[in-house]
Amino acid sequence: MVTDSDLTETELAELEELLRARRAADQSESERVAESLGQVLSARSDSTADDEHDPEGPTLSHEWSRLQGVRSETADDIKAVDAALERVANDTYGVCVRCGRPIGVDRLRARPTAELCIACARTVDG
Ligand SMILES: [Zn+2]
Repeated sequence: MVTDSDLTETELAELEELLRARRAADQSESERVAESLGQVLSARSDSTADDEHDPEGPTLSHEWSRLQGVRSETADDIKAVDAALERVANDTYGVCVRCGRPIGVDRLRARPTAELCIACARTVDG
């Protein structure tokens, strides 16, 4: 049921490049976040002795949950990018996983990890 995507070799190469760049950016973001989490963790344990009177306590908790959020978003994005790169490897990239029709190149440029064509995305969302 898999049909060919509408992509030319050049477009496919361009999109694969986008995905790889995004993968690299996600990777360094995730390393940066892991480092910040480590810093917050040690700042927190330094201040546990007098937690109630520590004005930094709530700020650190807030920063901690913010970083956890970024970390899980980044992890999800890495998964989506890896799945897209796998579709590139399997020659199924740019083909809607739901209806098997080609996904438009404009949509893929805006959202290189898209696995649904615009019509299916609307159906699923709506
Ligand atoms: Zn579709």
